[in-house]
Amino acid sequence: MRRAFSVLLAFGVSQWLTGCGGSRPNAEASASVRTTAPPPLASWNMKDKVIKTEEEWKKELTPEQFRILRKKGTERAFTGADWNNHEVGTFRCAGCGLELFASDTKFESGTGWPSFYQPITEGHVASEEDNSLFTRRVEVHCARCGGHLGHVFEDGPKPTGLRYCINSASLKFEKKP
Ligand code: FE
Repeated sequence: MRRAFSVLLAFGVSQWLTGCGGSRPNAEASASVRTTAPPPLASWNMKDKVIKTEEEWKKELTPEQFRILRKKGTERAFTGADWNNHEVGTFRCAGCGLELFASDTKFESGTGWPSFYQPITEGHVASEEDNSLFTRRVEVHCARCGGHLGHVFEDGPKPTGLRYCINSASLKFEKKP
């Protein structure tokens, strides 16, 4: 009973917190279609990993991209370029250009951050447990450059039941010609 209460409390705190931990209004129950989060970043064995120094990233990225991708920052809700982007195309990593998400898996989460129910290719997005902000969340990264993208939650729509809550600043949208 006490454990159940702790879990509920932790969930409540995580929903209350701002950042990509914001709750999804009117989320549908989708436990029956729930799948697991992507594999941990450390287990990802991509041959052409992009590894740069902090100084190199600073030169290439805007201050906002650097703060989010390399320092695990979060943009304010409803301020990014892509939360309300309804165009058809591909969302690439703003750091290294790897394809991360496709527009046909983007959905209206109501959170103010671009939200997707699955990565474009399973191996392109890696995850890691994030215990900051007094709660447990699952952080997601670009598997090639390790750039911070946002978090993944289990209150997404079908067919996966997952909600990848991503910072627009971590993405570079490529419109389909
Ligand atoms: Fe990347």
